[in-house]
Amino acid sequence: ASRDPNQPEFLQAVKEVMHSLWPFLQQYPEYAKHGLLERLVEPERIIQFRVSWTDDKGQVHVNRAWRIQHSSSIGPFKGGMRFHPTVNLSVLKFLAFEQTFKNALTTLPMGGAKGGSDFDPKGKSELEVMRFCQALMTELYRHIGSDTDVPAGDIGVGGREVGFMAGMMKKLSNDTSSVFTGKGVTFGGSLMRPEATGYGTVYFAQEMLRKHGDGFEGKRVLISGSGNVAQYAADKAIELGAKVLCVSDSGGTMLYPEGMSEAQLAELMEFKNEERGRLADFAQRHKLPFEAGKRPWHIPADIALPCATQNELDANDAETLLANGVKCVAEGANMPSTLEAVDRFLAARILYAPGKASNAGGVATSGLEMSQNAMRLSWQHAEVDEKLHAIMKEIHLNCIMHGQKDDGFVNYVDGANIAGFVKVANAMLGQGVI
Ligand code: NDP
Repeated sequence: ASRDPNQPEFLQAVKEVMHSLWPFLQQYPEYAKHGLLERLVEPERIIQFRVSWTDDKGQVHVNRAWRIQHSSSIGPFKGGMRFHPTVNLSVLKFLAFEQTFKNALTTLPMGGAKGGSDFDPKGKSELEVMRFCQALMTELYRHIGSDTDVPAGDIGVGGREVGFMAGMMKKLSNDTSSVFTGKGVTFGGSLMRPEATGYGTVYFAQEMLRKHGDGFEGKRVLISGSGNVAQYAADKAIELGAKVLCVSDSGGTMLYPEGMSEAQLAELMEFKNEERGRLADFAQRHKLPFEAGKRPWHIPADIALPCATQNELDANDAETLLANGVKCVAEGANMPSTLEAVDRFLAARILYAPGKASNAGGVATSGLEMSQNAMRLSWQHAEVDEKLHAIMKEIHLNCIMHGQKDDGFVNYVDGANIAGFVKVANAMLGQGVI
């Protein structure tokens, strides 16, 4: 903490992992040798750079951008790019640290990274977004490559932005090897990548419920966010017969008191992905209840899927969810629950899945996209979905292997942290002190 005093999100993520690892390290002290932990919390490389771009009126803007190359122990650096005004070094360091464990859990050979900029895409024209992406790539291109570092999307970076960056990468490098994942399917993207994180989160929750003879059928589900992850989590939950009661954005929560229908989801997706509008306007247009400035967690439900952003669910929210009888929380977002909220869930012994396990389906499918690119072929929709489903089941089993306690309770936080750590640590030990 004394080294990184202004990085609360990064310290929060490290603290959670160290809390899980502590008893494990006492049992297996060889993992605490060779400066392994000290090396694991220090990113291998951080790049910070200026992005200058011109808006439609000819005015010049300057943003700050980063790439955190956290760990290449088990494969090329891999992790998304985030464009949001809240992006800073602490947020990206926490995301890159988490990504390292998550990628290890996917069973695929990928290291951990994250990047992004404090650029705010809201209200920008398509040409402005394109100029920004191209300006960013004039620096980033020299630091990435298909065997070095493979970026993807995240908050504010969807297929459109990945396409602009991948296009500029190709032009600057004179190389068509597909460096980004999450590309359009016409230039190397994998089918199912847009669906993967949301679907994977629901697949993971399904596994947790199945272990207790339960499922999604008839369950009331709360979803926060209304972006890529939230939309496809809703899609899969509806398909499995659940009642999705709400979605949200930074303006508030929109309610579907009777449960969202497939047709309503299609309307929402069209609005969010094509018009790129705000939920408050959509709610007004479709006469749906909208709670301005509120988060979804006070609504009585059985399952909660936080799919917006970090620290969007605090101890009070956790207590409200528990008082209302929520049985399962699976995180689609990265670190949406505060440490105190996680403590409440674990103390109540509900089914709680941390993002690094339950949202790993996105990067796993990115790993599948890398394989398809390397082989120069593309798999069918069903084949990718089957592989994604199998990976989520495997991650669930790994969490049980390392997180099941003597009385049968599964602490998925411990399970995910220890399983991810063991894989990365073994690779680090095998490669010597570097
Ligand atoms: P999108 O940009 O598509 O959507 C983000 C959603 O979260 C929007 O509804 C946005 O609302 C809301 N949101 C963002 N910041 C805030 C905030 N500070 N307060 C309230 N709401 C906020 O991003 P994704 O769906 O891709 O990502 C969502 C989460 O999932 C992130 O934590 C991301 O790291 C994680 N994730 C994503 C993966 C992927 O494959 N895309 C993979 C693994 C994890 P608004 O428009 O109002 O900002």
